[in-house]
Amino acid sequence: MSGSLVIAGLGPGRDDLVTPEVTQALDQATDIVGYIPYVARIAPRDGLNLHPSDNRVEMERARHALEMAAAGGRVVIVSSGDPGVFAMAAAVFEALEDGPEQWRALEISVLPGITAMLAASARAGAPLGHDFCAINLSDNLKPREVIERRLRLAAEADFAMAFYNPRSRARPEGFARVLDLLRGICGGGRPILFARAVSTPDEALHIVPLRDARPEMADMRTVVILGSSRTRIIEGATRSWLYTPRSA
Ligand code: SAH
Repeated sequence: MSGSLVIAGLGPGRDDLVTPEVTQALDQATDIVGYIPYVARIAPRDGLNLHPSDNRVEMERARHALEMAAAGGRVVIVSSGDPGVFAMAAAVFEALEDGPEQWRALEISVLPGITAMLAASARAGAPLGHDFCAINLSDNLKPREVIERRLRLAAEADFAMAFYNPRSRARPEGFARVLDLLRGICGGGRPILFARAVSTPDEALHIVPLRDARPEMADMRTVVILGSSRTRIIEGATRSWLYTPRSA
């Protein structure tokens, strides 16, 4: 079996945030698989087949990529950000676990990318400078009770928190409940960052106290970072920075 499968992260948006090893894998690919807007970031060329697919079909996409690699292709699956963070790498391993034995002989590699929370954190300062966690707020693959329990425990443990998939079009009320739950435990004074479309022309960052946070401040292109009890703002001459000190 001579094919290979690379699971690559394209970073948060800007081309110069794609790593050189990902660029090289894309240049050598015969097939590129991924969610439509991510595949749209790849320039077409002779000998390259693009296979864009819709959201929410991750398992079919993973199996399709494995099948093409098993047939001898040099296949790259693209994710935004990092492929291991709420993205395709885990979907591929789920497909591999349940798939035919021969898939396990394939050469499979995961190439990291800059994940949204790190791109957002860097733009704002250093809000993830001490202990933090990342929580996917989508309830596609887990019940709301699990999300709420994790939020409660993380807030009680005083982690800074990064929230991915904060607000879906299908369930806008979920994020309002998340904000209420967090205000109940953390109080209203804590800074919360809404970072939208980081590193793209649509980038917008807003920091407000948790008491003023509204669900409509986030959409599906926003990553949200809530500070710990130690996170604060420093006012500079021309801008401010959000940061969490490294101690306790
Ligand atoms: N694998 C991706 C995350 C995929 S989940 C990564 O590592 O970044 C999709 C969620 O990621 C979005 O709902 C949003 O919360 C976040 N996201 C992805 N790109 C972003 C960007 N450029 N700016 C802000 N948030 C982003």
